Amino acid sequence: MYAGKRRRAWLKRALLLLMLVLIPLLVSSPKPLTATMVADSENGTKVMVLNYHKVDNTFISLSVRPDDFEKQMQYLSDNGYHTITPDELYDSLAGKGELPENPVLITFDDGYEDNYTNAYPILKKYGFKATIFVITGFLGKDKNYMTWDQAREMDANGISIESHTVDHKSMTDLTDDQLRAELVDSRKKAEKELGHPVEYMAYPTGTYNLHIAEMVKEAGYKAAFTIKYGNVDKASNIYALERVPIFHTEDTNRDFLERIRYTPIFERFGWIKS
Ligand SMILES: [Zn+2]
Repeated sequence: MYAGKRRRAWLKRALLLLMLVLIPLLVSSPKPLTATMVADSENGTKVMVLNYHKVDNTFISLSVRPDDFEKQMQYLSDNGYHTITPDELYDSLAGKGELPENPVLITFDDGYEDNYTNAYPILKKYGFKATIFVITGFLGKDKNYMTWDQAREMDANGISIESHTVDHKSMTDLTDDQLRAELVDSRKKAEKELGHPVEYMAYPTGTYNLHIAEMVKEAGYKAAFTIKYGNVDKASNIYALERVPIFHTEDTNRDFLERIRYTPIFERFGWIKS
């Protein structure tokens, strides 16, 4: 009887101790990010370029769940981020335009149909701009990808549709003629479908080299995006712009917060980029 009581008292104390340790951990909320996004006097404002692929419930790493995507957009909205277009980014890097405070460029690669069905309504809800790099040869042909009608509708409502080449081949494996075709044909196809110039592209699988970057310039693009991790500023190579990839993980939203919070810190200490 007495031993049982003592055990219960010990158990109570242990539980109390555990609660004292756990409660602060559970209630601690993420700190606002605004302080990390202040202008860097040397290289201008740092711009975060987020890179998504699919927004659906398929539980692969390329897919961010729609409810997670919504939480991330709400976070950006609540914390004073302002979405921008590739033109706004380009103009500011060229010293021609002012960016809003805490600028973020939201990008999607490949042109999946779920960008239209799942991401677009959420982007609209928050009044957010975004950019989709589409594989022009897949649109309207493969049912996993959006149609040109869907692309046009988004393009007319704040979503810039840009090039991700014709066939999504790894560019380092192509001859110059093949490279030129991937770059020029995709741009022309998108321009014909959308009815305006298409001047930005993202490298399929992120692979590029200086020769490919030069060909991108010759093919008439103003800038190109990689999957090199980091934020964009005036020190960035305009044909190799950094992005911050967002994936589905064990804890997608915690990782989202860590990624957007720590990228500027990594850069400040010179852990990534020049
Ligand atoms: Zn891709």
